[in-house]
Amino acid sequence: MNKYNLMLPACKLYILSTTSASVGDSGEPFGSIYNLERACPFCGTAAQLVGPIRSIGLSKAKKDFFDTLGGDLMLSEKLKQALEDAGLMSNCLYPVHDTKGNVLPLYHINPTLTLPKAHKDSTGLKKADQCKNCKRDGHFNEAIIGSLENDIPTYVAPLQLNYDNVDADFLNSSDAFNTWEHFGISRLKKEGNYVVHYARPLIIVNERVKAVFEKLKIKHTEFEEVTLRLPADSFFN
Ligand SMILES: [Zn+2]
Repeated sequence: MNKYNLMLPACKLYILSTTSASVGDSGEPFGSIYNLERACPFCGTAAQLVGPIRSIGLSKAKKDFFDTLGGDLMLSEKLKQALEDAGLMSNCLYPVHDTKGNVLPLYHINPTLTLPKAHKDSTGLKKADQCKNCKRDGHFNEAIIGSLENDIPTYVAPLQLNYDNVDADFLNSSDAFNTWEHFGISRLKKEGNYVVHYARPLIIVNERVKAVFEKLKIKHTEFEEVTLRLPADSFFN
């Protein structure tokens, strides 16, 4: 092994997402508290949730893994326990409350670490109506428009996120990360019919987390591998 192999992250990383319909809602409108100290002062992107997330319509949620309309990813008690037994996600999972502050048997995935901006050669990402100050919200999955004439359906393009030179120690220091890019539009203030909402990042997990999901045969889960590139010269030493 050469010394540069030591720089390689121990794990592959994947975008974690669900393919099933959202359940309930969570976040800003239900009494969750956010700290805006490190958020964009114009749109609120990257606001930090303080304490448990508050939710609505989740008291009878049966799925092991799902997202809410607010864009928050949730796990069942069973899946959280399996991850804990494997020694994973210890600093990434937090309690979920209803609007009255009652604890639900669910866990919210809320990593503390954030990856750098993905390289501009990443594909499947579209930008629209971004905050002019931070340009961090307003990311969307790119839709590939089909053709009725040729019987080609419209579909969501696969998301390929590419990263250059991310420090391996950093990548090995957590089982889950936020992306720098946030999806949807952030709104710091209520405007007309629009409520306060902070765009959410994607959640990136390592292959150890993926293995637990697969062992438990968690349904409607998608893992899209992220490309981690090292400096070109590290391959020649
Ligand atoms: Zn902003």
